[in-house]
Amino acid sequence: ALTIGIVGLPNVGKSTMFNALTKNNVLAANYPFATIEPNVGVVPLPDPRLKVLAGIFGSAQILPATVSFVDIAGIVKGASVGEGLGNKFLANIREADAICQVVRAFVDDDVHHVDGKVEPSSDLETINTELILADLQTLEKAVPRLEKEVKGKKTDKAVLDAAVAAQKILETGDPLSKHPGEIDLEAVRELGLLTTKPFIYVFNVDEDQLTDDDFQAKMQELVAPADAIFLNAKLESEVAELDDAEARELLESVGIEEPGLDQLAHKGFNTLGLQTYLTAGPKETRAWTIRKGWTAPQAAGVIHTDFQKGFIKAEIISFDDLVETGSVAEARAKGKARMEGKDYVMQDGDVVEFRFNV
Ligand code: GDP
Repeated sequence: ALTIGIVGLPNVGKSTMFNALTKNNVLAANYPFATIEPNVGVVPLPDPRLKVLAGIFGSAQILPATVSFVDIAGIVKGASVGEGLGNKFLANIREADAICQVVRAFVDDDVHHVDGKVEPSSDLETINTELILADLQTLEKAVPRLEKEVKGKKTDKAVLDAAVAAQKILETGDPLSKHPGEIDLEAVRELGLLTTKPFIYVFNVDEDQLTDDDFQAKMQELVAPADAIFLNAKLESEVAELDDAEARELLESVGIEEPGLDQLAHKGFNTLGLQTYLTAGPKETRAWTIRKGWTAPQAAGVIHTDFQKGFIKAEIISFDDLVETGSVAEARAKGKARMEGKDYVMQDGDVVEFRFNV
């Protein structure tokens, strides 16, 4: 499964946020894999459409799509040269498909800051620098090896060229993600360069900053083109303990509509290049995770490999059409049910029934 690694300096609120993320008990009951390892949290992707579908089909249960987060032990200055937790940290981060960096913006004299003061831009720079140095180290080792391999015709020259181009960018102090399109990422994939991974930034803010548009615009600018989310980790951990109505009331009292963690699940899913399609019946309504751009047979394969092998066609009704018509029979009668073949590219909100040979 695809995972998002949570990183950040010590004392920025990573554990608080991670604990809030994993407080969801509903999920643990439905997904046996929800408690795999202590540092892995599987969180549901909030999708209000599921409840509506379950109502139409009289489904006994709802299974949302999930996003997995890995809590990666604290990064510190010097991590790239193997100080403290450095090496384990780098190994963990290399395995993640995307990185979620938590940045402290909240001010609290009782919570020590490693650098003595709360300054989001300097925290961002500290971590960026470590990741850039780690990539430079990787390349310093890889380039001479690649040169030999290219001479011996064991490796394509394109790989070496991409590695050298990456080195040049990193030497200017920029992460590779800041220069999309300038290097052949496919060619250097096996090197596992950290700064090529998609990033999401979470600013752990004070309550009054939750609605401070000027402040948020400034922070968003610091991390562009990546996405920024603003949440208060302490508040999120309280929200996670409440029932829906109480949670809504608490959020309203601080002026926000959606829990920050729900925003994080959505952005994370998006950053990983994922989308869902829906199935529904009396047994369950379920969201299935696929990559954007996948065809109907590929999507069917997520349910069962036999569905992909024996794929004949997919009957698809869009969620909106289904809600408007009220039932599958009515949607069919009104010509809203489409039969799609093997080249069909799945769309967000497709409610699907696959036809296949066994
Ligand atoms: P980590 O080292 O990044 O995992 O940080 P922790 O989650 O352990 O948090 C460090 C300290 O900051 C703890 O005492 C938390 O209670 C506190 N803390 C976390 N989030 C917030 C917040 O949003 N506001 C305030 N005031 N304190 C927080």
